[in-house]
Amino acid sequence: MRGIWFSELQTPDLAISVRLNQTLHHEKTPYQELAVVDTEAYGRMLLLDNIIQTTVKDEFFYHEMIAHVPLNTHPNPRTALIIGGGDGGVVREIVKHPSIEKVTLVEIDARVVANAREYLPEIACGLDDARVEIRFEDGIEHVRQRENTYDVIIVDSTDPIGPAVGLFSAEFYRNVYRALKADGVFVAQTESPIFNSRLIRRIQRDLKEIFPIARLYLTTVPTYPGGLWAFSLGSKKYDPLEVDWRQAPQVATRYYTPAIHQAAFSLPPFVQEFLEAPEEEEF
Ligand code: SAM
Repeated sequence: MRGIWFSELQTPDLAISVRLNQTLHHEKTPYQELAVVDTEAYGRMLLLDNIIQTTVKDEFFYHEMIAHVPLNTHPNPRTALIIGGGDGGVVREIVKHPSIEKVTLVEIDARVVANAREYLPEIACGLDDARVEIRFEDGIEHVRQRENTYDVIIVDSTDPIGPAVGLFSAEFYRNVYRALKADGVFVAQTESPIFNSRLIRRIQRDLKEIFPIARLYLTTVPTYPGGLWAFSLGSKKYDPLEVDWRQAPQVATRYYTPAIHQAAFSLPPFVQEFLEAPEEEEF
């Protein structure tokens, strides 16, 4: 193979490899190893601990689906909290909604935001919107200290390792429920249905115990393990399958549409099977 390649070990038995044009930046932050590389196949990429977080070429699948599904589920979202998401991609999508008055971004690592601003301006561009407040603190602690505060809470976190572990716990989801207003909506990125089925099943069961409405939806993200990605949604009042599309704002997107919103909740049989399987069953 010609040139220098970066490989992410996605599981102990699977890697994704991309040819590098150049490494633009590399540093060790207090929380993680951060790199921005330029690749032939996917453009610029943000890597944290050698795991692909986002790429210029395929980021919109993920950012549009994690943002517009909860925002359109809520008929009038005014306040939104993002936990993680320091690259700014979710913020960029949220500020497209005219009803939004305030977006709070709680990112534990200030270096992620600084590097996204410098190297990924097409993703980070929403961070300068006047409605956005950026706080460099732990999202778990932030949510623990809030009550009846947000219309929408979105967890755009790293995988469940290091500082993100607690963002996948039932205790955190109970605190999210309290931090939401009486009709609030919650969404979290919850990994690969191909490689993390037990985690997804456990999260869905936790959310069903806490929220009156709990659902799973899927999208494709080419650079994530397996290429298919799961989002878990908990809602206090509004069902994402009953959106009044006549009232929904028109926002410019490249992947998300009302039809894709609806279709994303149609789960293939292999996903239904692991969601319904008894706890002790292996996958
Ligand atoms: N879309 C990406 C993915 O699924 O791979 C996630 C991108 S975003 C860069 C993830 C961010 O979550 C990282 O910048 C990380 O610093 C942040 N993060 C991890 N744990 C956190 C916590 N407890 N509180 C706030 N931010 C956290």
